[in-house]
Amino acid sequence: MTVRTRIAPSPTGDPHVGTAYIALFNLCFARQHGGQFILRIEDTDRVRSTPESEQMILDSLSWLGLEWDEGPDVGGPHGPYRQSERGDIYGEYARQLIESGHAFKCYRTSEELDELREARKAAGMHLALKPADLALPAEEQARREQEGWPYVVRMSVPATGTCVVEDMLRGVIEVEWAQVDAQILLKSDGMPTYHLANVVDDHLMGITHVLRGEEWINSAPKHQLLYEYFGWQMPMLCHMPLLRNPDKSKLSKRKNPTSINYYRRMGFLPQAVTNYLGRMGWSMPDEREKFSLDEMMAHFDIQRVSLGGPVFDLDKLTWLNGVYIREDLDDAALLKALMEWAFNEEYVGQILPQVRPRVETLSQVAPLAGHFFSGLPVIEEADFDAVKLSREELLKLLQFLVWRFELVPAWHKEALLGEVKALAGHFDLKMKAFLAPVFIAVTGSSSSTSVMDAMAILGSDVTRARLRHAIEVLGGVSKKQAKRFEKEFRDLA
Ligand code: GLU
Repeated sequence: MTVRTRIAPSPTGDPHVGTAYIALFNLCFARQHGGQFILRIEDTDRVRSTPESEQMILDSLSWLGLEWDEGPDVGGPHGPYRQSERGDIYGEYARQLIESGHAFKCYRTSEELDELREARKAAGMHLALKPADLALPAEEQARREQEGWPYVVRMSVPATGTCVVEDMLRGVIEVEWAQVDAQILLKSDGMPTYHLANVVDDHLMGITHVLRGEEWINSAPKHQLLYEYFGWQMPMLCHMPLLRNPDKSKLSKRKNPTSINYYRRMGFLPQAVTNYLGRMGWSMPDEREKFSLDEMMAHFDIQRVSLGGPVFDLDKLTWLNGVYIREDLDDAALLKALMEWAFNEEYVGQILPQVRPRVETLSQVAPLAGHFFSGLPVIEEADFDAVKLSREELLKLLQFLVWRFELVPAWHKEALLGEVKALAGHFDLKMKAFLAPVFIAVTGSSSSTSVMDAMAILGSDVTRARLRHAIEVLGGVSKKQAKRFEKEFRDLA
């Protein structure tokens, strides 16, 4: 048997470090067995999936050196590798399941589903809806079918008993069937849900081992059942421990930068980030902290993964990155790294229009444009003294901007201007007054190049990190304030 693993990201946002972590372990597992590693794009959520996000995922994984053998960009014998391009495959399989009695058309309206759930809640039962709960009287089912009501296809699931799933790291996982609902497989628009598309594609693409985050454990019983219904051999499952913040909560962008773009823009080296991700729950046989991807592949052993939640600690990664710069990069390599990072025509080219109108000698360029080549600016509370806003308003303004920016799908100046204008209106401030604290937060000074252009050029991750940094410098948002802010922000949206 040839081992085949895959990473199956949904392109619905920034390229997440969690995706890179899971990709890395899948890649190492495949290589260690002389197998193949596949990249599949799971874009069945047509509303949230974007081509920009997909491109960023591909770019970041290649930047990290994680190469795939088959994928939407390189092709392969099992394509297409983008679920949105796999046409009617899923519908056909859903029909098969209906014919074999393992799935059914469900004509329930959303109001009826709410009522059914309410009734279960009131009776103190699990909220999982079972085929028997969903069934309509035969004439009613026939009427809705005849009248062409919208329907979804759901899978049959046992009402009672225990489902036993094998996990490569966790051994046997037991889940009560009572907790598992009659999962939707095909939505009313004919698109498959994650569960159906994932199982069908893993099978058709010959995937033998599925290494994925532990948040998918609850899906495993449904998937196992689908494999049984189809009469297919299920890949071995392995649920990896979730990455955590240093306070042990689940890694989230509220507390830590989670986008690979951030690490790239902040000047981390890809080999250091990949090495650090390899330390997440895993260690080399000799426990050394610094190792290359090749070394990791050579020594990989999935059984060395420990399940205690691995902590993604920015300070440790920064330390490791420093070790790489000092130990691995000679002058020529460091120069190359700097050029790849920011000292290149493409990036400097974007900055020239910003500096040209503002300098008289070339020696003025570096001091003026320093914020384009730095991480978090060195600022202190007193830098905001000139801003005529109460502390509460100031914090709120910065926080609202971070939240609005988190939602911007395509990062360009016009989009940012729209957000800034909307918020300035909300705060009843002129643009200039609104931008004054933003200016300090982003450029680190009170006079520099245009802050709107700076944010557009610096990108979403660095901009948001600088705004968050300013909030911290100003003493941070208290829990109480956060509650107030969240409410006001929701009303605004
Ligand atoms: N599309 C899922 C994700 O975004 C894939 C989960 C899996 O690996 O099965 O993570």
